[in-house]
Amino acid sequence: MGRGRGMGRGMGGGAGFAGAPPTATIPTVDVEKCVGCGECAKACPFGAIEIKDGKATVNAALCRGCKVCASACPTGAIS
Ligand code: SF4
Ligand code: SF4
Repeated sequence: MGRGRGMGRGMGGGAGFAGAPPTATIPTVDVEKCVGCGECAKACPFGAIEIKDGKATVNAALCRGCKVCASACPTGAIS
């Protein structure tokens, strides 16, 4: 398989995005509140969240800071 890594699209042509700064708005997961339900991972349009050891983990390299995950989280663990 040739192109195994990640989403296959998104790197490079950022024409549609208004240039989010690379590090400014990465969401924070409160591990005390996270129940590992995976709703944030399903909701993220960029595939930037994984559930590791029962807690959500944001991949800052993929995250665009859209905060869809924060809205999706039923426990309010993401801010
Ligand atoms: S802010 Fe957006 S891109 Fe970043 S992890 Fe949340 S849903 Fe994904
Ligand atoms: S939606 Fe909230 S509780 Fe569920 S895995 Fe994501 S951060 Fe954790």
